[in-house]
Amino acid sequence: MAQRGRGAWREAVHQASAMVFGSQCVVCGAVTGPVCASCLPMPDVQHRSLPGGLPCFSGALWSDETASLMLALKQDGVTRIARELAPLLTAALDAAVPGGSAPAMLVPVPTRAAADRRRGYRPVEVLLRAAGLPFQRAMRVTSAVQDQRELTRAERVRNTQGAFAVRRTAENLGRVILVDDVVTTGATLVNSAQALQSAGITVAASITVLSTPKRHTGNA
Ligand SMILES: [Zn+2]
Repeated sequence: MAQRGRGAWREAVHQASAMVFGSQCVVCGAVTGPVCASCLPMPDVQHRSLPGGLPCFSGALWSDETASLMLALKQDGVTRIARELAPLLTAALDAAVPGGSAPAMLVPVPTRAAADRRRGYRPVEVLLRAAGLPFQRAMRVTSAVQDQRELTRAERVRNTQGAFAVRRTAENLGRVILVDDVVTTGATLVNSAQALQSAGITVAASITVLSTPKRHTGNA
């Protein structure tokens, strides 16, 4: 191990832990998975105003450690990790909905059907369930949104524009809070909000687990 870089070691641990369903910490490799006590993420709520003025609250910043947890959930199928990430989502919600606010239904940003089939689960919904938060699947992806990882900010906006539709069963929702796992440029959240607003639904705010200005997450 001494001759291996920290990144390579972490990657090896990451893969091994996924294979044995998270018996090692996905961040540091300690044998108390899926996350050891010292790698448990602490809420550090971030606030941004997305294009158009939509407020966005995130439970923590994207970092090497929080990214390891999110990627274990999204790419490696370690859905148990959602329990450790759920407090970040709850912290974001608490910041978005101060006491006395009008009630709002949580609506997850929809994911591509192909991605859902490949994974066999929807990460945002897994996170919401882990946090014990009720939600309504009010939207669907209508057009062929492509994987966003290699797209620029402008391309991401075009990629998701008009890509979301509100389900007929959700059209009576008065007021909602949009939920996604990671916010990068905000294009996905902004375009989802526009679809809801076009259906007469008020989008009070958006919340995510993590916030990053970078482009390496596969989110928008
Ligand atoms: Zn650890």
